[in-house]
Formats: sequence, C-alpha cells, structure tokens
Amino acid sequence: MTEGEVEVDIALLEVESEISPPLINCPNCNGLLPLGLGTKTCTLCDAVVNVEHEATRKEWVEERFACPNCSKVLVCGVEERPAKVACSSCSNQIVVKPKVVKVEITCPSCERRLRLKPRPGSRQVNCPACDDAFKVTF
Ligand SMILES: [Zn+2]
Ligand SMILES: [Zn+2]
Ligand SMILES: [Zn+2]
Repeated sequence: MTEGEVEVDIALLEVESEISPPLINCPNCNGLLPLGLGTKTCTLCDAVVNVEHEATRKEWVEERFACPNCSKVLVCGVEERPAKVACSSCSNQIVVKPKVVKVEITCPSCERRLRLKPRPGSRQVNCPACDDAFKVTF
C-alpha cells in the first residue's frame, strides 16, 4: 500500500503469472538465488546480488491475462512480480502472483521424473515411485 492510496473494501483477485523468472546461481557460492528479479540476498552465503534479466521484464510487461471477475483480457504493463493491476472493465484490483517454478529431476534409482520447487541448498527427497531417498542440491 503506497501513501495516499485509499483503502477500499474489495476482495483482491489473484492470477498466477505464466512467465517464470530465470533460475540464477549465486556468483559467490554457486547456490540457487531466491527467485525473482531485483536485489536478492543469497540464503546460503548472504551475498547480495542484483539479479536482472531484461527479457523476463519485457515479457512481464507484455503478459496478458484474463480478469478473474469479468474475464476481460488485460495487459499487465508492470515489469515486476507480484504486480497489482486494476481491471479496466470492472475496476477490481488484481494481483499477478509470481509463477510457481518447478524443476524436473530424475530419480537416480528408477529414473522416474519428479517435479520439484527449487529451493536453495540441499535437501532429501523421497521418490514416490521406488521409495528411494536421495539428495538434491540446487
Ligand atoms: Zn551464495
Ligand atoms: Zn474485470
Ligand atoms: Zn525412484
């Protein structure tokens, strides 16, 4: 909420962005940086990295989505996620949430493909197909 903005009593509508930010590795420790663009602090080594990706910003500005309330197709026009957009037809506020990024990995035992949300660091994963536990590092 920015200063001077009037608070109105309408439910916030949400849509999920279709455009994923790039997965960027920390230049210091090579671990995965938190997703998104802008200034990010590496959760593994505390390095502060300015993550910029012009192509993603451009796609975000041009991203089209349908208003969840009236189905009008809107152009986002904002070069960051989450973004707040007002529908030009029903004037509801819509929050365009960042896309939930999933990375495909393969189980080392049975080669079953698994889709995981990337998170910085290592963690243990149990394969739902063969029940094998293995370690994943992003
Ligand atoms: Zn780092
Ligand atoms: Zn609308
Ligand atoms: Zn498996």
